[in-house]
Amino acid sequence: FQRLKAGLSRSSSAITDGIASVFTKRKLDAATLEEFEDLLIQADLGVATASAITEALAKGRFDKEIEGDEVKAILAEEVGRVLTPVARPLVIDGARKPHVILVVGVNGTGKTTTIGKLAAKFRAEGRSVMLAAGDTFRAAAVEQLKIWGQRTGASVIARATGADAAGLAFDALKEAQANGTDVLLIDTAGRLQNRAELMAELEKIIRVIKKHDPSAPHTVLLTLDATTGQNALSQVEIFGRTAGVTGLVMTKLDGTARGGILVAIAARFGLPIHFIGVGEGVDDLEPFEANDFARAIAG
Ligand code: GDP
Repeated sequence: FQRLKAGLSRSSSAITDGIASVFTKRKLDAATLEEFEDLLIQADLGVATASAITEALAKGRFDKEIEGDEVKAILAEEVGRVLTPVARPLVIDGARKPHVILVVGVNGTGKTTTIGKLAAKFRAEGRSVMLAAGDTFRAAAVEQLKIWGQRTGASVIARATGADAAGLAFDALKEAQANGTDVLLIDTAGRLQNRAELMAELEKIIRVIKKHDPSAPHTVLLTLDATTGQNALSQVEIFGRTAGVTGLVMTKLDGTARGGILVAIAARFGLPIHFIGVGEGVDDLEPFEANDFARAIAG
């Protein structure tokens, strides 16, 4: 928890500094409530959540004396309420050989890094892991995945730059099935500037995978970069529709003041949030815990 709290320190201080300056009068009047609501909106929690939390705070306390600590406690409780339904672990189905995880998201949001971190985690659990370098457009992405493979003891399947990603995914699945591999993680391209082409490619990858295993992909993870704030909302919409996203990983929560966006996403989409990224290192991926996150962000 201390690590999470340290990671989220910029997001939480944006909120707690605000609380300290808003609740100086000690009396919970209309103006204070409005300032509090604005503060939550500024912190990226979303208008709907901000107003629900403000209402919860006002209930039974209007016109009464209130302290900053009480406000923080209520904030943590209300945020926890929003996050609890979406805080769901990523469960690997051991009966699947392999359990196929397709990882999608805009370039730079942390797909490859998250795949590396997940590979390390699965390896530590004693599972065999294969990584498919499906971002065939960027040589650097392929190289990065190979390094993660070496580091974690996962096998890597890659092709020359420009190769067909769906063909690569198909070959990877065939090989993973033949080897009895436990988990196959498939990286994908994330060129949002060519949205139609990207979505067509993702659809093709999924179609081709299904041809070989109709139950796959068993998990479609979307990586979201917390530092991009409100942009993350439209990314969930875009990828959710096309790629059938089953769960989210919110990366780069360390060092950003915009961690509140996770709350807005939880409230708006209700998609499971499996992990959060709190650094670039292999251990900097934490299972998402609703109440820990809520307490950390509320200071
Ligand atoms: P991709 O283009 O989606 O595959 O993104 P990458 O995995 O290459 O990540 C882009 C950059 O973000 C790299 O420099 C990563 O080290 C960095 N990164 C990824 N996840 C995190 C995180 O949780 N925290 C921080 N601080 N950096 C991260």
